[in-house]
Amino acid sequence: MGEPTKILLNESEMPRRWYNVVADLPSPPPPVLHPGTMAPVGPEDLAPLFPMELIRQEVATERYVDIPEEVLEVYRLWRPSPLYRAHRLEKALGTPAKIFYKYEGVSPAGSHKPNTAVPQAYYNAAAGIRRLTTETGAGQWGTALAFACAQYGLDCEVWQVRASYDQKPYRRIMIETFGGVIHPSPSDLTRAGRAVLAKDSESPGSLGIAISEAVEVAAGSPDTNYALGSVLNHVLLHQTVIGEEALAQFAKVGLTPDLIVGCTGGGSNFGGLAFPFLREKLAGRMEVTIRAVEPASCPSLTKGVYAYDFGDTAGMTPLMKMHTLGHDFIPDPIHAGGLRYHGMSPLLSHIYELGLFEAEARTQRECFEAGVRFARTEGVVPAPEPTHALAACIDEALRCKESGEEKVILTALCGHGHLDLAAYGAYLSDALVDHELSEAQLAEAVASLPAVPS
Ligand SMILES: *Cc1c(COP(=O)(O)O)cnc(C)c1O
Repeated sequence: MGEPTKILLNESEMPRRWYNVVADLPSPPPPVLHPGTMAPVGPEDLAPLFPMELIRQEVATERYVDIPEEVLEVYRLWRPSPLYRAHRLEKALGTPAKIFYKYEGVSPAGSHKPNTAVPQAYYNAAAGIRRLTTETGAGQWGTALAFACAQYGLDCEVWQVRASYDQKPYRRIMIETFGGVIHPSPSDLTRAGRAVLAKDSESPGSLGIAISEAVEVAAGSPDTNYALGSVLNHVLLHQTVIGEEALAQFAKVGLTPDLIVGCTGGGSNFGGLAFPFLREKLAGRMEVTIRAVEPASCPSLTKGVYAYDFGDTAGMTPLMKMHTLGHDFIPDPIHAGGLRYHGMSPLLSHIYELGLFEAEARTQRECFEAGVRFARTEGVVPAPEPTHALAACIDEALRCKESGEEKVILTALCGHGHLDLAAYGAYLSDALVDHELSEAQLAEAVASLPAVPS
């Protein structure tokens, strides 16, 4: 018997509460502002879109929030998720590093997204809401929410970014199979969508535009709320089940990670994995470097500005202080659809400003190269998003080969790529191009930032 490949927890060892990192930060994140008054938003401003319990979690300062029994019951379909040791990848790289991946592809949607979709649907159903609207990029979030809505008898209506809608027809079918209704965005069903189409009838769409459409419909209907799959504090809170399980799994093998690497779109899988480890680090119980990896075509952390901006393109959301490329930025249509958001979680942005983690950007071809290498050794075809983190893991493991360091590396394999095979097809036939945001594009993108008195 060598060292184990799968480190598993029993259902009885599943975390029963989510961890709120805000409780342990040296300073609180800046408030979310009302774009009209520039005053901090109150619960009444958010009530047309979200149920009270999620609004409460959004501003919660207590360290832990109990997971409702009705949510735990659904989580049990796939949680606890396995932690894998990538023995075969390590061997292929010839590295002394120990590489671990927490695999979220075992969920009904094939990614980490159901970890928050399920509680969001639950709290909305408990508040008497009948329908949820949302946006989706690659389709992962739409799939997760459609599944979650089906658990609690809610209707689900999804606006999918046009570029992904065209590239990934199977996601649409999966959303419809779970009972959801799906529209390409921009659509002619909303004012926001029609405004974009009037300017560019061929618009590939963006998450910002799709959010505007979903928010517009929810705001206009009392029995309908809106659900967001990333970015917000309550989403990152729900995702901490990933990190809490990983901590317990590392305890089983008597190790702690030296480096945690995750991909960041809006920051939820990264925050979900990293926050419980950050708690240990802040308490002086663990030394760990935490690193975010984002696409070079949408580099909100590494090239964006830290400023108040809207979460959507039409400017309907409150203003959030975050790393942003500007709310009307439309990234190049790279295949990692989940990483094409103009902003970054305000909570993660704040933590980045505090210097508690580092960030880097990568272009898509090197990421797919890493994804293929991972598939050929570990047997999982990763979603395009986590290939960004895998590329960074592999580089780190190769550095360890030079130095002889036996570094323990942990990454979130936050989804499988079974419905992203067209992207692999493009990579394998050498049809993928690299996009990197130019200084000129960046300057143009951030020119639209709203003026906020300091
Ligand atoms: C949505 C998604 C992402 C990006 O969102 P985060 O909030 O940054 O996690 C990354 N990977 C997968 C598989 C996704 O579905």
